[in-house]
Amino acid sequence: MKKALPSQKAVFIYRSQGEVRVWNLFDEVLEAANKGLNKEPGDSLRESIVYRKLYEWMSRYYKEGTTEDFLDDLNAALYSIRYSKHILPLDLIPSETGYPQSGYIAELDENLEPEAFAADDFSKLLSSGKLKRLKRCQVEHCKKFFLGPPQRKWCSKSCGSAFRVRKKRKKDSL
Ligand SMILES: [Zn+2]
Repeated sequence: MKKALPSQKAVFIYRSQGEVRVWNLFDEVLEAANKGLNKEPGDSLRESIVYRKLYEWMSRYYKEGTTEDFLDDLNAALYSIRYSKHILPLDLIPSETGYPQSGYIAELDENLEPEAFAADDFSKLLSSGKLKRLKRCQVEHCKKFFLGPPQRKWCSKSCGSAFRVRKKRKKDSL
């Protein structure tokens, strides 16, 4: 069982395959979204829908930000997720009183449609504030999302050199 980090403001708890866990997959969601760019032969249909939908949410947020329309659509996609009241064991969520607290846990089993699953993952990343630093790689064949400072234009070292080579070629051909 993974403990909630004390510095973390929002704690997301879910049940999957009968087990209650703390959700802490922020980096993994970004990676999964980038998988939505290309369908890999090993991905199941469900996985490929989740990845593609995640990339769509990222792209839309990147263009639009948190507009009312955007949040309406996100909330509509989240609507089918069921929540259950749960008394949270102290080893999962420590409490100030020393007694287990109650909370709501998301039921994320395999019956949940992949669209709702993707919206749920995206909404957690969004509400964490991490997407403030969301950038899209400027290399044409890449377009991966990453988190970085405002001046960064590419997702990786190899994309950085590809970008510089292209820029130089453009300059030389003028
Ligand atoms: Zn890139």
